[in-house]
Amino acid sequence: MGLLLKLALLGVALYAAYRTFSRWKGLYDRFVGPPPVPQKPEPPRAPEPAPAPQTAQAKPKVIEETVQCAGCGAYVSTAAAKCGGCGRPLP
Ligand SMILES: [Zn+2]
Repeated sequence: MGLLLKLALLGVALYAAYRTFSRWKGLYDRFVGPPPVPQKPEPPRAPEPAPAPQTAQAKPKVIEETVQCAGCGAYVSTAAAKCGGCGRPLP
């Protein structure tokens, strides 16, 4: 019985809280007025602008000029003083 009593009391309390809340809400609405309702109909959605034409991606620059090593055949940057593979000095 105790549980039922508690549930009943809880229900009464909730009901009372709800009634109190709605009464205050009614008073508030009477004094302040209902919140303004936007009357403007929502304009039709404009079509999304087409994405800007993507500029042609810049071609990657030639990073380095390479030269084939005469000693080992490895391609070595011309900026290098000597081959990284065999150590042969580049022309
Ligand atoms: Zn080499």
